[in-house]
Amino acid sequence: MKVHTVDILGVPFSTLTMEETIQYLFGQLKQERRQTFHVVTANPEIVMCARKDSAFQNDLLQADLITPDGIGVVKASGMLGEPLQERVSGFDLMNGWFAQAEQQGRQLSVFLLGAKPHVVERAAKELRRLYPSLQVAGHQHGYFGADEEEQIVEKIAAAKPDILLVALGFPRQEKFIQTHKQRLQTKIAVGVGGSFDVWAGEAKRAPKWIQSIHLEWFYRLCKTPSRWRRQLVLLEFLQHVLRERKMVR
Ligand code: UDP
Repeated sequence: MKVHTVDILGVPFSTLTMEETIQYLFGQLKQERRQTFHVVTANPEIVMCARKDSAFQNDLLQADLITPDGIGVVKASGMLGEPLQERVSGFDLMNGWFAQAEQQGRQLSVFLLGAKPHVVERAAKELRRLYPSLQVAGHQHGYFGADEEEQIVEKIAAAKPDILLVALGFPRQEKFIQTHKQRLQTKIAVGVGGSFDVWAGEAKRAPKWIQSIHLEWFYRLCKTPSRWRRQLVLLEFLQHVLRERKMVR
């Protein structure tokens, strides 16, 4: 099944809701495939990075599914006349997926790649606690040199997980998946940014009520003021969306 997409500043976003995305991914696990199915959960920062970095844009456009991660993307879709229904963030998507697998007695295996050594270990432990049926087929921290990459790909391929979670931050996680997708021996790979830090208890998501009024970005900014430079890109994103809207109308 081909997923319907909406173009936002050159990035084709899936129009599936959270629940539909979970069902779609369950379906993808059943497919026979020669290379890993690549999922990107893209926020405005990722969209802007792709506009400036053509190698990253190439990796992004090769992905099989791009979900709207961030209220900025959802709002932009409305401004451009094709509203996306909801945000599908990496952390929520993974938790929703694993929780359903747990409820339905479906066995999934995951490999965790990325974050600091103690973080990835704690994240693996937390995932096992939250979802006892989930098999953690292996884990590997994300502070490795280029010369170790080959060995890491072999380690993942030997573990043959259903799902590879890559938490190296963008654009590195997308590049890693695209570069090695023919050899990873994993059905689905997802770039999950800072998710291991949240599972490990090193970073906190905003409380649900803040998420519901769409101010999670502001909460993160207050918690980590050093991110303000990164958040400036949101203004740039908005500027581009407004410019595009003028052209569409
Ligand atoms: N990271 C890593 N190796 C590196 C640099 C970063 O594994 O060389 C990890 C970092 O520890 C963190 C994740 O990548 O767990 C990126 O988190 P961030 O919140 O920056 O992600 P994003 O904003 O891209 O979602």
